[in-house]
Amino acid sequence: MNFPQFPHPVLSLVALAGGLLIGSFLNVVIHRGPSLWGLVEGENRGTLVSPRSYCPACKAPIPASGLIPIVSFLLQRGRCRNCAAMISPRYPIVEALGGLVALTAVAASGWALAALALAAFGFSLLALAFIDLETGYLPDAITLPLIAAGLGANAFALFVPFTDAVIGAAAGYAALQGVALAYKRLRGRDGMGEGDAKLLAAIGAFGGWTILPFVVFAGAAGTLAVAILRKTAALNEPLPFGPGLCAAGFLVVIAARVFNVP
Ligand SMILES: [Zn+2]
Repeated sequence: MNFPQFPHPVLSLVALAGGLLIGSFLNVVIHRGPSLWGLVEGENRGTLVSPRSYCPACKAPIPASGLIPIVSFLLQRGRCRNCAAMISPRYPIVEALGGLVALTAVAASGWALAALALAAFGFSLLALAFIDLETGYLPDAITLPLIAAGLGANAFALFVPFTDAVIGAAAGYAALQGVALAYKRLRGRDGMGEGDAKLLAAIGAFGGWTILPFVVFAGAAGTLAVAILRKTAALNEPLPFGPGLCAAGFLVVIAARVFNVP
């Protein structure tokens, strides 16, 4: 077993700081990506790099001192400095999760290429989970490159043998697409999107086919638990499965690495 190890406190801090900053960028992706990729109607929110960060309520540009992950949110008590509109708690939450993803990747893989790949996998899942929560879509602009990245990483057997990754991508896609088609046939409407199938394909491309049953089970259990806790489990409403799959995918890939399976 490769028990998680923090190689060096200073290097762990560097990973944490980098993760927080990337989390801050992921907030931009979550806010602007859906309009950029045509998934939502309405205002044009700009590209991922321009304009500079602005307040969604009053459109005032945010000065550099207002862009420090988590700290700025706390200092401003969650309000815009210009118009005092409430800032969504999503901003500090995504920043904190970005920091956690980077720390977890380094703890599971040390300072190696694998840690970088794990972090990139985690950051992509983080953006996907929040975009799905806000829009109900898992954009191809993230899922398709993620499938390619997983296959690319395992072409060098970074996590699993290449054949396991290819079977993982194909089986992940086929399993959920099969469920979606069967559901549509039985109920005459969409219950699950093709985005979920592409997401599970990406998870299979990174972690190999052997982890897929655990990912689907943990993702479904987590989704149901959240729905029951929030009492939104109206069984006729489709539950967004993406966020649960994202969380389960990252945690199961990390666990497989820490416990040296397969
Ligand atoms: Zn404002």
